[in-house]
Amino acid sequence: MSLLGADAVIACPLCGSENSERLSEFGSTACKALYRCLDCREPFDYFKCI
Ligand SMILES: [Zn+2]
Repeated sequence: MSLLGADAVIACPLCGSENSERLSEFGSTACKALYRCLDCREPFDYFKCI
């Protein structure tokens, strides 16, 4: 098992939908990945480093 490369289901922080896609492995920082919600079509950052 590896956490790297695992595509976790990320819920949209705006509408709560889990219908999201990953746009980029890294966002503005290495700790963030860029996702987009397919329901409200808003991009959002997912913080990987917690
Ligand atoms: Zn949404």
